[in-house]
Amino acid sequence: MKYDSIIIGMGVAGISAAIYAKRAGNNVLIIEKERPGGILNIIDNIENYPGFKKISGPDLSYQLFEQVNELKIPYKIEEVIDITLKNEWKIIKTKNAIYECKNILIATGRSPILLGLPKEEELMGKGISTCALCDGALYKEKRVAVVGGGNSALQEALFLSKIVKKLYLIHRRDEFRAESELISKIKATENIEIIYNSQVTNYIEKNGSLAGVLLNDDKTLEIEGLFIFIGYAPKTDFAKQLNITNPVGYIEVDENYETKIPGIYAAGDIIIKKVYQIVTAAAEGATAAIRFSRKK
Ligand SMILES: Cc1cc2nc3c(=O)[nH]c(=O)nc-3n(C[C@H](O)[C@H](O)[C@H](O)COP(=O)(O)OP(=O)(O)OC[C@H]3O[C@@H](n4cnc5c(N)ncnc54)[C@H](O)[C@@H]3O)c2cc1C
Repeated sequence: MKYDSIIIGMGVAGISAAIYAKRAGNNVLIIEKERPGGILNIIDNIENYPGFKKISGPDLSYQLFEQVNELKIPYKIEEVIDITLKNEWKIIKTKNAIYECKNILIATGRSPILLGLPKEEELMGKGISTCALCDGALYKEKRVAVVGGGNSALQEALFLSKIVKKLYLIHRRDEFRAESELISKIKATENIEIIYNSQVTNYIEKNGSLAGVLLNDDKTLEIEGLFIFIGYAPKTDFAKQLNITNPVGYIEVDENYETKIPGIYAAGDIIIKKVYQIVTAAAEGATAAIRFSRKK
């Protein structure tokens, strides 16, 4: 089957792109491996997306999906496993079929790396979080811990320290691998206590919510929130052979969100950028689609 453009991923970046492409008269297809909304489906509460004072991730996903259906944008629930190039055509292979198009937008997102401990999934949104900007306000004047030792863990810890009463920063090594300026700020923050050479080994649950964590020295920390920042894994395995990713798998794009391969675009959490938010993902998807829709 041949299309003008194919969007891989039905998260906010992919849906935003599809809306613009379809309205520009593009013969567009979305391919999504799981469900509409992507990572929005695991977000309890969103309070910073314009137009919605407060909305749950699943509700926003539903509204986005309704827009896809209203515009009659075709989609397939299939996993993309390979992309190859044939002259100006791009060949997309899924587990079920083969599709051809002139332009591809890769909007497959990334997953936060978790600790892999029992009950972790159940406690996500009930004490465990991977987004300080999103969930920090829920822990006003409470005791929380941050796990990690890189730039993002330290930045998020500083952000949270202004909201919470006490913050434990749990790091598995005896020194941080973050910028020295950040490390100095962390050390100078009164309500942050650094716990070096330490790892969370178990979660303590009470009435369905996180009540504490157990550390590898058998010490217990009584906390209501645990923020895990040990990295994200971009979902680009199917695109490795195209050589458009950096060594850790994020896609490099120009100001039009096009990769070094003409006709292959990328947007949202999958690209190398500074701000990983819903509003940026939507804007990037739209910008890419406006660009490739004009080329059709
Ligand atoms: C816990 C948490 C809370 C957050 N809270 C907020 C918040 O309050 N406000 C805010 O602005 N941002 C928040 N964010 C960030 C925001 O959710 C993301 O930046 C944004 O949703 C990313 O959208 P995306 O479309 O790029 O990716 P995703 O939503 O991850 O969508 C990617 C889609 O691609 C699909 N896919 C992946 N691989 C394949 C494949 N091989 N074939 C087909 N489909 C594939 C996936 O199934 C998924 O549906 C939060 C993030 C997390 C983790």
